[in-house]
Formats: sequence, structure tokens, C-alpha cells
Amino acid sequence: MTARLQNTVALVTGASSGIGEATVRGLAAEGAAVAVLGRRRARLEALADTLRAEGGTALVVEADITDKQQAASALESVVAELGRLDTVVNNAGFMGVGQAVDSPLEEWEHMLEVNVQGLLYVTHAALPHLLRAAEDSPRSVADLVNISSTAGRVARPGTAVYNLTKFGINGFTEALRQELSPKHVRVSVVEPGTVDTELGTHLRDGVRQAVERQIAGMEPLRPEDIADAVAYIVTRDRRVAVNEILVRAGDQT
Ligand code: NDP
Repeated sequence: MTARLQNTVALVTGASSGIGEATVRGLAAEGAAVAVLGRRRARLEALADTLRAEGGTALVVEADITDKQQAASALESVVAELGRLDTVVNNAGFMGVGQAVDSPLEEWEHMLEVNVQGLLYVTHAALPHLLRAAEDSPRSVADLVNISSTAGRVARPGTAVYNLTKFGINGFTEALRQELSPKHVRVSVVEPGTVDTELGTHLRDGVRQAVERQIAGMEPLRPEDIADAVAYIVTRDRRVAVNEILVRAGDQT
């Protein structure tokens, strides 16, 4: 297979597990040098070691994206170490679930901090580099992919604030897409359904068990299913812009 992302650099946030980790593997398989960002350094180092053993280039970037300064420094270090930035996947996220009346305010705040503010900090720091890459890369195109959710399209009781963050990501993506497409920075959104990752393990006691009961019996998506969608978007020729991909589990309503 031709490595379609040869000579390009990709940054994936939330690369230490789940969808982010699978996305890193997918982009590296296409020849991209990959910067893997998250807070759990040991997990990132293990992933980077695997990629290097396979002949790839990987940079570990330990950062908390809810910290404006850490996000900016992370982007600086990627460009300083790897020389450029062609692809950014805003994947890091946190999900809290539960009836609004029972939900701790801190959980709502944390969703906004990671899913919205963190994504904004990374995007703001990345844009000048993506614009530059679109001008001077061999592919003459750059990509910003935001990982939203089915919760960015369908609101349900118990997920109000998660819905707020993911609907917000969808709106932000569409406006930015219109702004940047003339400059050949493609801005896309991927909306996963239920994926088998660590996301649900961070739910509060009681809520977690209720969610597990809800999805029992369903065969969830695998992280690779979403990584495939991201790879499809970013490996298109510059004349093609895949704006949005919604991927549900086969038996998910
Ligand atoms: P995981 O919990 O496995 O991954 C979340 C990732 O985000 C981790 O790598 C974590 O890394 C990172 N992260 C969280 N907070 C921060 C932070 N403050 N700074 C930097 N990184 C952070 O779950 P998923 O893989 O499922 O989630 C990935 C994305 O997919 C999320 O945006 C989620 O909302 C979305 N999604 C998931 C679905 C699912 O069913 N799993 C469905 C729809 C959307 P670390 O702890 O090392 O910082």
C-alpha cells in the first residue's frame, strides 16, 4: 500500500487510549510522523515505542489541554521537533452522564474544559501551522478533524452537558470549515456511536452501572472503526473534502 501521508506530521490529542490511540496507529500506517498527546506519559511512551519499532516517527507530548499554556507549548514543541504540522485530530474528551439535578457542577465544568476549551486551545495554536502546511506541503492540503459524537446530533435525557459540548463542536467545525476551505485547510467532524473504550470507566458510580445495563447485549464499535473514518478523511486528494462522518454500531438505534 502507498503511504499516503509520507512526509507529513500529525498531532492526535487523547492518544493514550481508545479512539486516539487507534487513530495514531492508522495515521502512522499511512506514513505520517505522529505526535501523541495526553497526560499519561507511560501510555504515550509505550505507544511511541511500538511505532518506532515498526520504523515510524513518534513524538510524545505530555500535556493537559485544559491548560492554555500547556496546549500552546505542546504545539510549539511538535513543530520544533518534527518541523511542520499537516494534520490535527482533536480527539481528547471526557463524558459525564446523569440527570441534571443530580450532577455535580464540577463534572459539567470538566466537560466544558476538556471538550470545548481544550479543543479551542489546541485549535488556536494549530491554525497558523496548518495554514502554512496547506501552502507548502507536497499534498497542498492540511486537515483538522474534530471528534464529536452522535451526542453532537441527537440530544437525550441524562446527557445535556455532553450534548452541549458535542453540538458545540459540530457548529464550530462547520463555521471553521467555511472559513478555511478556500485556504485548503479541510475541517471535518467525525461522530462516533458507542465505542468500546475507557470513556465509560470515568462515569460516576451508579451512573456507570446504569449505562452498562443500557448497552449490554449491543456489540459496540471498536476504536479502529473510528480510526478508519479519520484516515479516510485525511488521505483524500485535495479536490475532495469529506466534511462529516457519522458511524454508529450496527445495532445502535
Ligand atoms: P478514552 O477515555 O479512552 O480517551 C480519552 C482520551 O482523552 C484519553 O487519551 C485521555 O488521555 C485524553 N484526555 C482527557 N482529558 C485530557 C486532558 N485534559 N488533556 C489531554 N488529554 C486528555 O475515550 P474515547 O477514546 O472513547 O474518547 C475519545 C473521543 O471520542 C472523546 O472526545 C469522546 O467524547 C469521543 N466519543 C467516544 C465515544 C465512545 O463511545 N467511546 C462515542 C462518541 C464520541 P489522558 O488521560 O492520558 O490525558
